[in-house]
Amino acid sequence: MFKSTLAAVLAAGAACVASAAAAATVGIAMPTQSSPRWIADGNAMVKLFQEAGYDTQLQFAEDDIPNQLAQIENMITRGVDVLVIAAIDGSALTSALENAAAADVKIVAYDRLIRGTEHVDYYATFDNFKVGVQQAQSLVQGLKQRFGDVRPWNVELFGGSPDDNNAYFFYDGAMSVLKPLIDAGDIRIASGQTGMSKVGTMRWDGAAAQARMDNLLSSAYTDKRLQGVLSPYDGMSIGILSSLKGVGYGSAGQPMPVVTGQDAERPSIKSILAKEQYSTIFKDTRELAKAAVGMVDAMLKGGKPKVNDTKTYDNGVKVVPAFLLQPTVVDAANWEDVLVRSGYYTKSDLQ
Ligand code: BGC
Repeated sequence: MFKSTLAAVLAAGAACVASAAAAATVGIAMPTQSSPRWIADGNAMVKLFQEAGYDTQLQFAEDDIPNQLAQIENMITRGVDVLVIAAIDGSALTSALENAAAADVKIVAYDRLIRGTEHVDYYATFDNFKVGVQQAQSLVQGLKQRFGDVRPWNVELFGGSPDDNNAYFFYDGAMSVLKPLIDAGDIRIASGQTGMSKVGTMRWDGAAAQARMDNLLSSAYTDKRLQGVLSPYDGMSIGILSSLKGVGYGSAGQPMPVVTGQDAERPSIKSILAKEQYSTIFKDTRELAKAAVGMVDAMLKGGKPKVNDTKTYDNGVKVVPAFLLQPTVVDAANWEDVLVRSGYYTKSDLQ
């Protein structure tokens, strides 16, 4: 009896040691907790990795580049097998990733491309150009709905963070729709500010977007009404909307301009329901997490991750093989279908 119990305990112990030794560790470096989407991404990955039998280390860097570098170095030192990274500055990781490669750590770029290094194995993201196309299409749809076909429509443009490769894809996608309208005189940018060097918003900062909107309103819109704002991200849209409200937009005689967004963050869905923000782009973080976990799992098992794009994402050193998911426009007409029926939010989350 004693003997067999001991044998069982030893066997269980051995199994424990064996599984502990087998469990690979995945380091997950996310940019910030200031935007809920990255928290959702991080949590979704932890859950899926753990279900698949991996250990995880999740770190958020609060949009501070040295902080993210230190977190990555630290995870390498602690022996992670793979790093999944959503970079703050996509070009600031070159030397950290040299160290990762020397320690045989594999790298997946998560949502944001990592630039200027050969040490990035795969990229899981959305069709970022299409995000911009959808933002602009929604903007034009909103302009027609809210202001009719009386042209030119007065619009201002905002871009994302110049150190994030995605920002250029969003802007270029949007301009593929808007430029022909600008050239034809159907859309007028009264400030004259176009191009990422003029409209980019460092760190996607909502307060910076609000301040720029204040300036645009007081310099270019004292004698005319603004009707549309291309905003690339919900956190910026909220800042832009408060600037607009501050000078009286959103009242009966002064309709709110059509303002776009991205990420389907709760405050923005609430804003859409309150008829302030016009639309956002939903990118299902559960699906992106699944794609990244699938890539890591395949790599660690010696297989080949599934990719569907081997041309678009040139990081300056190599074209990174990517898996692109599809974004979806969300507005007052379909929010319930897209966000509630899919279980992404409950209805009470949005009230
Ligand atoms: C992401 C967007 C997000 C933005 C700001 C981009 O890299 O693709 O979903 O809105 O960063 O966090």
